[in-house]
Amino acid sequence: METLEADRVYNFNPGPAMLPLSVLKEAQAEFLNFNHSGESILEISHRAPQYAAVHEKAKADIKELMGLGDEYEVLFMTGGASTQFALLPLNFATKEHPGTYVLSGSFAEKSYKEAAHLGIGTIAASSKETGYHHVPAQDELKIDPNAAYVHICYNNTIYGTEYHYIPDTHGVPLFADMSSDMLSRPLDFSKFDLIYAGVQKNLGPAGVTLVIGKKALFEKSPEKLPTMFRYSTFLKKDSLFNTPPAFNIYMVGKVVAWIKEQGGLEVMAKRAKKRADLVYGAIDASNGFYRGHADKDSRSFMNVTFRLPNEELEKKFIAEAAEHKLAGVKGHRSVGGIRTSIYNAMPIEGAELLADFMEKFRRANA
Ligand SMILES: *Cc1c(COP(=O)(O)O)cnc(C)c1O
Repeated sequence: METLEADRVYNFNPGPAMLPLSVLKEAQAEFLNFNHSGESILEISHRAPQYAAVHEKAKADIKELMGLGDEYEVLFMTGGASTQFALLPLNFATKEHPGTYVLSGSFAEKSYKEAAHLGIGTIAASSKETGYHHVPAQDELKIDPNAAYVHICYNNTIYGTEYHYIPDTHGVPLFADMSSDMLSRPLDFSKFDLIYAGVQKNLGPAGVTLVIGKKALFEKSPEKLPTMFRYSTFLKKDSLFNTPPAFNIYMVGKVVAWIKEQGGLEVMAKRAKKRADLVYGAIDASNGFYRGHADKDSRSFMNVTFRLPNEELEKKFIAEAAEHKLAGVKGHRSVGGIRTSIYNAMPIEGAELLADFMEKFRRANA
């Protein structure tokens, strides 16, 4: 288990987030001379064999962890998850076959808005009216059988809710934004047609977006779209049509190899549960001093959101947490309160310290 070095803090920011210390150290050690090339990974040609090995290994490891076969491909794109919000409808939706969206939080809304802006997005379900305390359940989904795809946001980073089931879409292709819970637990990923994630929450430095989907789907990009807007371009050219964000892909490759070394997604899930149990435990034992946002059956294992009795206390909580090496616990500007993000690389002891701090703070201020 990794522990903290003296001058580092536990970073509870929602993203960019903590990376495994061993990965940072490896990158540091290789920084000036990558794999005997005499160059830094920042300088090397994306056509060099040393880079090709990094690119292919990262892809293979991601597919292996997800248990996906040959019918799937891993694309490395740029522009963050936010660019995918627009590319998905542009590539796959039409007026006759719109993309249909399940609204479960801020990012789900943003993705829907891109499709709606083009006149090719509809809403399959929404938990907005009830304040996004839960993700819509299977029996709340009204799926248009004519839709090109159903889009869900698997983990709602801002509200702190997460799916704990895979929706049955009755044969309509299922797309998921997994930016904030990518590779945090095993799932039957073959139930999804397309999964995407900006990597800066769980898997690496901001700058590359993973898009994992069925090859047959990627091939459907309309030729009328600009070259770099088509998934088919990335598929055909192995994400090397133009210069990829090589350093970011290299870092993702290292994090993915680290996940494998640690024991894979089962181990990530066990640790995530341990961390989440600690923090939710502190909320549940607080006699209402901490009020969790998420309904219990929709609680996120990655982002724990809660309120204190008033904003003064929240400010005090944030300031005192920072003095205990607990950084970045402030809630999103749009909803306020406290949000503690506990992704793959957060050591268990970080969650223990946080739970302990929460208990002491409550006793001192309740
Ligand atoms: C952070 C986040 C985004 C936005 O990602 P960018 O890479 O910054 O565009 C989208 N969806 C979810 C679920 C997120 O957590």
